[in-house]
Amino acid sequence: MSNVANIQAKIEQLGRQIFELVDKDSRSRSLFAKKDFYGLLMEWSMRDPLFKTQMFRFVDVLPTLRSSEEVVEHLSEYLNDTNTPVSAFLQGALRVGRFVPPISAAIIRKNIVAMANIFITGADAVSALPNLRKIWKEGARFTVDILGEAVVGEREADEYAARYRLLLDFLAQHTQEWQGSTASSENEPPFVNISVKISALCARIHGSDPETNIAAILSRLKPIAVRAKELGAFINLDMEHYGLKELTLELFKRLTSEPELSGYPHFGFVIQAYLHDSYRDTEKMLEWARQQNRQFAIRLVKGAYLDFEKVIAAQKTWEVPVFTSKVETDANYERVARLILENREYVFPAFASHNVRTISFAATYARILGLKPADYEFQMLYGMAAPIRRALVTLGYRVREYCPIGELVPGMAYLVRRLLENTSNEGFLRAKFGANASVTELLRDPASQLLEQGDRPVHDRKSPETDSAVHRRQTPTASVSLFVNEPPADFTIASVREKMVHALKSVSAKTGGSYPCVIGGKKRALAEQMRSINPARPDELVGSLSSAAAGDVVEAVATAKQSFIAWSANSGEERCRLLERLAAKLRKNRYDLAAWEVFEVGKNWVEADADVCEAIDFCAFYAMEMRCLNRGRVTQETAGEVSIESYLPRGVGAIIAPWNFPLAILCGMTVAALVAGNTVVIKPAEQSSVVAAQFMNLLQEAGFPDGVANLLFGKGETVGSLLVVHPDIDFVAFTGSRQVGTEIWQTAGVTHPDQRNLKKVVCEMGGKNAIIIDTDADLDEAVLGIVHSAFGYQGQKCSALSRLITVGDVHELLLPRLIQAAEALNIGPPEHPGTDIGPVIDEAAFQRIQSYIDLGKREHTLAFQGQVPSGLKGFFIPPTIFKSVDPASRLAQEEIFGPVLAILRAKNLDQALKIANDSRYALTGGIYSRSPRNIAHARGEFLVGNLYINRPITGAIVGRHPFGGFKMSGSGTKAGGHDYLLHFTFPRVVTENTLRRGFAPDSVRPASLEV
Ligand SMILES: Cc1cc2nc3c(=O)[nH]c(=O)nc-3n(C[C@H](O)[C@H](O)[C@H](O)COP(=O)(O)OP(=O)(O)OC[C@H]3O[C@@H](n4cnc5c(N)ncnc54)[C@H](O)[C@@H]3O)c2cc1C
Repeated sequence: MSNVANIQAKIEQLGRQIFELVDKDSRSRSLFAKKDFYGLLMEWSMRDPLFKTQMFRFVDVLPTLRSSEEVVEHLSEYLNDTNTPVSAFLQGALRVGRFVPPISAAIIRKNIVAMANIFITGADAVSALPNLRKIWKEGARFTVDILGEAVVGEREADEYAARYRLLLDFLAQHTQEWQGSTASSENEPPFVNISVKISALCARIHGSDPETNIAAILSRLKPIAVRAKELGAFINLDMEHYGLKELTLELFKRLTSEPELSGYPHFGFVIQAYLHDSYRDTEKMLEWARQQNRQFAIRLVKGAYLDFEKVIAAQKTWEVPVFTSKVETDANYERVARLILENREYVFPAFASHNVRTISFAATYARILGLKPADYEFQMLYGMAAPIRRALVTLGYRVREYCPIGELVPGMAYLVRRLLENTSNEGFLRAKFGANASVTELLRDPASQLLEQGDRPVHDRKSPETDSAVHRRQTPTASVSLFVNEPPADFTIASVREKMVHALKSVSAKTGGSYPCVIGGKKRALAEQMRSINPARPDELVGSLSSAAAGDVVEAVATAKQSFIAWSANSGEERCRLLERLAAKLRKNRYDLAAWEVFEVGKNWVEADADVCEAIDFCAFYAMEMRCLNRGRVTQETAGEVSIESYLPRGVGAIIAPWNFPLAILCGMTVAALVAGNTVVIKPAEQSSVVAAQFMNLLQEAGFPDGVANLLFGKGETVGSLLVVHPDIDFVAFTGSRQVGTEIWQTAGVTHPDQRNLKKVVCEMGGKNAIIIDTDADLDEAVLGIVHSAFGYQGQKCSALSRLITVGDVHELLLPRLIQAAEALNIGPPEHPGTDIGPVIDEAAFQRIQSYIDLGKREHTLAFQGQVPSGLKGFFIPPTIFKSVDPASRLAQEEIFGPVLAILRAKNLDQALKIANDSRYALTGGIYSRSPRNIAHARGEFLVGNLYINRPITGAIVGRHPFGGFKMSGSGTKAGGHDYLLHFTFPRVVTENTLRRGFAPDSVRPASLEV
């Protein structure tokens, strides 16, 4: 028998032993065969995926529903959407119950609480104690975890840390007797054992700034760890989503290297086998252990955030960090398990799994290495697999149960995770207890399964830590679209942070230079100079710009007009290729460009990087769109005639761009015009002209012919106005304030006798955007979404939130958390990786925003104002929140364009929508609600260009969220959308009669519709 076959036989032998004990256990089928509410829910959910989604969503929202009517209404709304026999049955029950909602609501609540109690050990340590005792009595151990809401503020993080310290003392005190009566065996980890989530110990985690995060977390974690050492207790750091992995591992090293703690071996961390990185991470941690001569524990899990990781990766166009098949995860788990067991001298292994194959593998391999059951332990989740736990204890293995404690609201997220796990098609528990899979099937070797399927073994896969993964780009699938968004920089990766630091250094050394205008490809240095300064340090010059005079405007327009002849005749494909070359140049220089934005317009790292990615997206997206337009379109299939619609360029355009997205909007408007065959004169905002100069450089380097794009610096009132009135300007693409936009709209409407075209204005202006918080909103999500939308880039996005409308009494719950979250924002120089809030753009903006804050203080109630740290000399304005603001007041009606938020209260959703729509603007809006009916209502009634549901309202992605509004927000165009290029063209139709002497071919289409 080969070695592999021999091991497999031993694994099967142990597996069968475990199964026999499980099957003999009279309580073993209870988890899936119960006929109570939980059992029925599981059964129905496994039968009907839509019902499962709706019911789990209802379970999630239930604890926040206060009245009986709300409970009945919500359940009925969720079931309404499913339309299955099961939901029809429940609907019927509900209809009866609707006459007496309190009775139905009480029954529903009671059943869901009972279900939660299957998985949650107690509301607090005191109520959990009897269950912990039971586990101990049954020969197992436990680790206790405190469930919590998402931590959004420093106070919440402090409270969470304090609860852990109390928990340690409580467990030490109340389990003393149990410890005394248990002969603790050799190697046994401490009896008092807790599991901690690091995200709960820090108000704001920035991927870009691990050092500050580690310091903040350590300040709370170290006292817990020191207390644990004093009590002889164990602390495990749980592993959360992938974005926190590097931080967690680094934190673990720092914590255990603290002088007071070093040498204490009772700390552990988690490795998630579903991650491609897991084997390498384990090796690295082992190497560190060897070098430092440290000992610690590793809990090896498969990983609980599978869907989340896949969704985030898809949204950010990052490579998926997890294996995407269960068998790969299982095989990798066994591979990492071997590595850990082989390094037992440094690691105490904890195999956390309910899967009998996985467990049998670990135990068998340990035996082969000569290890005893006391040299490692198995871990399981409370309520998930008690029969397997009992079987292992009977066989002499050590088992520890993971026992979460907490109230119902934070408990629901945990409960839903467990329900999902139990109903997962691929999960072991469902296969064994729900679908009665055969023992042979359940004990199959995952590595052999992979080979049988023709897949590579897991160790052949590339680790995503290689450089190519730094900007992980997904391969587009032909069936979807050829366009894939540029992946944002993942600043959790050290090498990416280093690139940004390097770019900041090198760009900083280049500030203070002079930038000429560019006309016909020639640089034109002019006597009159304009200064662009760093808003964080106004005495720092970012660059001097040649300021154009009237003659330069005339010459630039003439050059563009002259260049139009050849450029518009150029093949459309050639223009598309040039856009793609420009995208490649922008990509190559992405960190330098982001650094210029940091210095010139005060964007923090993430915002600056996002702006550069958007610029790249615009180039790639409009190239793709133009290829479609180039093909032309047969308007209608008609016998005897063929009509083809195609698109001509409009002519010469003025591109008048804003400073708040200094590269993306400037680039987007420019390349949309160019790819459609127009030529342009670009006039960037004064405050962001150096970024525009960098863009122009790259445009020239990409090979755009001279004169196709011309760049003029200067003031809007002079250069901008001269461009708009020029008779040879055929269109204007403008993004900026309502005041300037409406002036341009008006001026462009005046037709000059020499004009050859009516001027088209593509006009995008501001917003007075609102988010509605419904009574049942998920406040964890809402608070973070509000802070991001209102204060991201200092509130200087046209999509930014400025009116927060709370429904009913949700205000009371929301406000304290919102204030804490706003307090946690870091105000500082934007080049610092941990900065959330930088300066506003300039002195004038500073004064204007300040005057609104003064007005707010006079007329409304200040709920919160942050503190600008001393020593900052720039145009810094702290996040400011006013409450009880009258919807008709200036603060609620006028665009402020700064970090100022007004909270307005509404009695119900109808009133909230009325307030939201009562604005001159209609750009973005949002609602946080978990009521399907209210969401549908908002979809229909909330009148804005971009409506976002249960997510922040800023950060539109090219192609995914075509962006733009109406009313005083804009002329109804959608940047990054399918119809955007049409605004830069004249549609034209050519009709040919194909009927000759009574003979018409079946179809006469030109071989190519290329125009
Ligand atoms: C004591 C304990 C502590 C835990 N602590 C953590 C923790 O800190 N962090 C954490 O993330 N998880 C943690 N978990 C959860 C754990 O990661 C698993 O979700 C859970 O244990 C199920 O794995 P299993 O081996 O029991 O079941 P199985 O049914 O054998 O495996 C299910 C797991 O396989 C993986 N999987 C399923 N489908 C696929 C697929 N299509 N592609 C790739 N992989 C797939 C997933 O990880 C899924 O959870 C813990 C579990 C226990 C028991």
